[in-house]
Amino acid sequence: MTRDDNNNRADDLASNLAGQGIDTLLVQFTDLLGVAKGKLVPLHQLPTVLASGAGFAGPSIAGTGLGRNGPRSEYYARGDLATLSALPWLPNMARIVGSGFVDGEPFEGCPRQILSRQVQRLAERGLQLQIGIEPEFFLLKRDLGSNGQPKWSPFDDGDRLAKPSYDLKSLPRQLGFLQALRSALETAGLTVLQIDHEDAWGQYEVNFEHDEVRASCDHLMLFKLAAQHLAEARGAIFSMMAKPFADQPGSGLHFHVSLWEQDRAGRATHCVFDPKAMGQREGAGTSPIDPAGHLSTLGQAFIAGVLDHCAALCALAAPTVNSYKRLVVGESLSGTSWAPAYVAQGPNNRTCVIRTLPGRFEWRLPDASANPYLAAAALIAAGLDGIDRQLAPPPATTDDLFTQSLAQILARGIPLLPQSLSEACDALAADEVVSGALGPVAASQFLALKRDEALAYARHVSSWELERYGAWF
Ligand code: GLU
Ligand code: MG
Repeated sequence: MTRDDNNNRADDLASNLAGQGIDTLLVQFTDLLGVAKGKLVPLHQLPTVLASGAGFAGPSIAGTGLGRNGPRSEYYARGDLATLSALPWLPNMARIVGSGFVDGEPFEGCPRQILSRQVQRLAERGLQLQIGIEPEFFLLKRDLGSNGQPKWSPFDDGDRLAKPSYDLKSLPRQLGFLQALRSALETAGLTVLQIDHEDAWGQYEVNFEHDEVRASCDHLMLFKLAAQHLAEARGAIFSMMAKPFADQPGSGLHFHVSLWEQDRAGRATHCVFDPKAMGQREGAGTSPIDPAGHLSTLGQAFIAGVLDHCAALCALAAPTVNSYKRLVVGESLSGTSWAPAYVAQGPNNRTCVIRTLPGRFEWRLPDASANPYLAAAALIAAGLDGIDRQLAPPPATTDDLFTQSLAQILARGIPLLPQSLSEACDALAADEVVSGALGPVAASQFLALKRDEALAYARHVSSWELERYGAWF
């Protein structure tokens, strides 16, 4: 598209939005920690937002490492016209997603630019990654407990089934929120596929249609903006922390991943993970690596790379100290947390970090607090490394790993995921492929922020410690 075409398209879109009564743009970007940030700009400023971007003080944004003065102190979120859409829950407003620019150049530490670099690497090979992101989340409330300390609990006091998965008693009580969310997302251009009550009290999942990887990440951020706003309007706290309650499952952010050949116009043509599309029909039923014949040789190499870099990927996909309370095998209300703990893959096996399906795989590692752009960028880098090194994944696991003892798992040579944020940070620092995908700015900033977070947590004396040890010795 020429610059004139682009300007004409921008003019058309702006007058269409103005016709709907929209007069304000929310220029939104995502910081290194995965939090939506931005500012309000009058709609008539759209040409400037597209040409140079909305300006921000760089050092005020988490994880930029930018200085307080000079040309490299200003961070510009330059709008991507493809993301422009009305925000039905915010009257008169439309969102445009920005990528970071500094001193006129793409900012290497911007999460969306980091993903764009990996998307570009794929495009150079004629490939396109598509993902469907599955956010799980809680609706919570925060009261003062009888001891005067804040007490967090599920928003809905009636939501207390012993086995809460797919609970149709509690779900209708949140219909006001869930239907408003669905309608907001659909009006903003997403295709909502399904909504359910998940396996914890106050926990839900909303699925929308998969898309090209960067578009999917933009959609997830749109979902978060909408859900946060609509929950708050009803007095609830929308939470995407990984594990709010120790005895209940945490919130995953599973990625359904497929790789496609794309044509010159950037349209996906056929799935290169699909063995049939790749003329590899005979694999099914014969290979111990892929007994169901789900993935082409290329798909197997991709998941081999993801498994090989699993420990470093953990830092990005499970990025808080709380994340490591989700990634354990443990009892919960329904008997399992369904969260991965082992580095394994298997056909339709939800007890592995990679669950293979026909022509795609589900990456079950990410939790709801992950920055989707960073997790997706790291996933691509790991998968491409598997392809380039022609790696083969370990044999498929076809049994239920959650029934195995730790000793049995280790005897089978199945590695464990990192057990803490510090361990995951060490793995990230040591992994040139994954930290290389972030680039030096984001890698060092991310590690510094996350090591601080791990240290603050380690230094904190919790009420659990006082209860356990206070009167013990
Ligand atoms: N909540 C689980 C997790 O933390 C996943 C449950 C499911 O498979 O939907 O990953
Ligand atoms: Mg789920």
